[in-house]
Amino acid sequence: MDRRRFLKTLGAGILGTAGTTLTASRLKAEGVVGGKEFVGVLVDTTRCIGCRSCEEACAEAHDLPVPDISDESVFEKRRDTSVTQWTVVNRYETKKGEVFVKRQCMHCSQPGCVAACLVKAMKKRKQGPVTWDENCMGCRYCMVSCPFDIPKFEYNSWNPRIQKCNLCWERLKQGEQPACVEACPQEALVFGTRRELVEEAKRRIYQRPEKYVHHIYGEYEVGGTEWLYLSAVPFEQIGFRTDLGTIAYPEYSTGFLYAVPIVLILWPMFLMGVSYITKREEEIGREGETR
Ligand code: SF4
Ligand code: SF4
Repeated sequence: MDRRRFLKTLGAGILGTAGTTLTASRLKAEGVVGGKEFVGVLVDTTRCIGCRSCEEACAEAHDLPVPDISDESVFEKRRDTSVTQWTVVNRYETKKGEVFVKRQCMHCSQPGCVAACLVKAMKKRKQGPVTWDENCMGCRYCMVSCPFDIPKFEYNSWNPRIQKCNLCWERLKQGEQPACVEACPQEALVFGTRRELVEEAKRRIYQRPEKYVHHIYGEYEVGGTEWLYLSAVPFEQIGFRTDLGTIAYPEYSTGFLYAVPIVLILWPMFLMGVSYITKREEEIGREGETR
């Protein structure tokens, strides 16, 4: 779509919202989570200053190791999310200067990870968050099915879990915003229903066409995601994959799972069973020693 057509489409789309400014306070979680619409977060990368308050708040909210956010050396290399850090902020040098980009699970509207999970440990909640449950069998299909390489597995744990952002599911249920959104001093992160966020993103582009690239990342990628991004530079310059297309990944992963020989599906279940029995025997042994 060329620039003129894009702006025309935007103009039509935002008529109903023109003149309004979507603030973090207007998009409080109250009254939204119980509704039918997916909620999500709009990240305006032009507002982010790389303070990493979002990283700190995420760690505190989920009892993860709290990073030293005064340490700017982290920006010297590109970081990925990990089992102990569900969100990371990276720095990119661009023609428009430094751009800081927060990364986490995108909470896809039709998540590949959920479609791939044979035991429904990965769930798409009706409010939008994609969460993980303890009944995981450790097959890691969610990892290979994720277009954004997000789920991480605790390889070094005796009781490994999948670790990733859960959109602060526990906080949402209490009517609170995600911790990262609340902590951001720049309002670079805005929480709301996905429909409101798309409208707000379009309004910002329409009002400042010279400031933003005319694309909302996540509006259509992989069938749409609950995290949406605005940028001043093309998204491939700030670490986003732009080759993912607009087809939801479950359409691929279902085919992928049909192609997997049944032994590869049953093998992880068998290993989980062996692991459980071994652990149980160890526990019984320990209980016997302490009696
Ligand atoms: S980004 Fe990956 S882990 Fe997150 S919902 Fe989408 S497929 Fe699942
Ligand atoms: S808290 Fe806000 S401004 Fe600070 S790094 Fe995170 S997104 Fe950027």
